[in-house]
Amino acid sequence: MKYYSTNNKQNLVSFENAVMSGLANDGGLYMPETIPKFEKKFFNSIEKFSFQEIALHAAERFVDNEITDSDLINIISTAVNFPAPLVRLNDNLSILELFHGPTLAFKDFGARFMAKVMEHFVKKKNIELNILVATSGDTGSAVAYGFYDTPGINVFILYPKGKVSVIQEQQLTTLDKNITALEIDGTFDDCQRLVKAAFVDMEISVRKNLSSANSINIARLIPQSFYYIEAYKQLENKSKETIISVPSGNLGNLTAGLIAKKMGLPISKFIGAANNNKVFPEYIKSGEFIPQPSVQTLSNAMDVGNPSNLVRIMELYSNSISRIQNEIYSESFDDNATRYGIKEMHDKFGYIIDPHGAVGYLALQSYVGKKNITDYNGIVLETAHPGKFKDVIEEELKINVEIPHRLAVCLTKQKKSISLSKNYNEFKEFIISSA
Ligand SMILES: *Cc1c(COP(=O)(O)O)cnc(C)c1O
Repeated sequence: MKYYSTNNKQNLVSFENAVMSGLANDGGLYMPETIPKFEKKFFNSIEKFSFQEIALHAAERFVDNEITDSDLINIISTAVNFPAPLVRLNDNLSILELFHGPTLAFKDFGARFMAKVMEHFVKKKNIELNILVATSGDTGSAVAYGFYDTPGINVFILYPKGKVSVIQEQQLTTLDKNITALEIDGTFDDCQRLVKAAFVDMEISVRKNLSSANSINIARLIPQSFYYIEAYKQLENKSKETIISVPSGNLGNLTAGLIAKKMGLPISKFIGAANNNKVFPEYIKSGEFIPQPSVQTLSNAMDVGNPSNLVRIMELYSNSISRIQNEIYSESFDDNATRYGIKEMHDKFGYIIDPHGAVGYLALQSYVGKKNITDYNGIVLETAHPGKFKDVIEEELKINVEIPHRLAVCLTKQKKSISLSKNYNEFKEFIISSA
């Protein structure tokens, strides 16, 4: 399988190359040349496969023969080592809990797989790699934990000062060894801009062996398709139409779901649920992609004004807006609505949902309401553990939200970060002197 750049279909590289460079040298994002298809009988007998077997089955097709089967089995068994349970709330509604990994967010799936794949290639080549990653909250910690203590790989995490929660910041800034947290005086989009600028800056990108670990890395995206199949496996009634609502920011998670569908997974509709950052719902409505500055919300991992994976979604449907509109519904909900969603989830189902999942829930309810769909499998992706957003949930529900042990431990540790402005030259100098 070859991978092409979204800026130039002729720019083809191997899986290894696509993973190790992150972004293509022409600034495009890598896409698989074809989306591998599963045979129908795989989905018909899906229940007999474990989550790891599903992951292996899918990963093999993207990796081809670049990684041996036994190495890939090792990668999958360390990367996909926690479950993705589908919690059934009623006949129509289930929650896919994606927060059972080390940092309590779905990004653990992508980050861990990518880290293991990169470790594999770095070992083979005997090189040192410097990874830059911009985060709006959860990416950074997932990546940091995924790569923690990996020989030959250093990780620099850029996060927007004052714009991530205390818990997220503690997760980002309390690892040592090969992990460095950079506190940028700017927004997430500034962090992302600095990272992108570094990659196209020949003075440092080659010399410092820079690589990316954002959702733009294809090795982050591929494993996110695994749990869509795992969710389908757990559905009780597979004959009903299935609608999946994805709380979205940079659109990596949604893109992975669309890829799973292209692989043959029978999903009738995807919903890109947005908070007050409305670039994607506006795009779905008008067909025009107009990036905006991001605004802060309760579901802060979705505060993205220029979602980088949109070009991949366009690629998947040959830039046809009508095809995209056919596959995806999108709607935005503000913080008041989000609070209402948290409350309604608890009142109706006794389920404690985090602000991101609440936006997903609201979008699903709105869609089926508008379309008058009454008998369906609705799946809301719960992308983070509610304990990460304890304050707002406790305020709304007047209950105590428990923090899982693995999170409580990092809250007691000393924060370590380096402050930088959003100026590119300052950032560049830092990378030259430290990486
Ligand atoms: C990153 C994140 C999202 C958004 O996912 P994208 O792939 O960027 O669209 C949603 N919820 C949580 C908790 C996240 O960490």
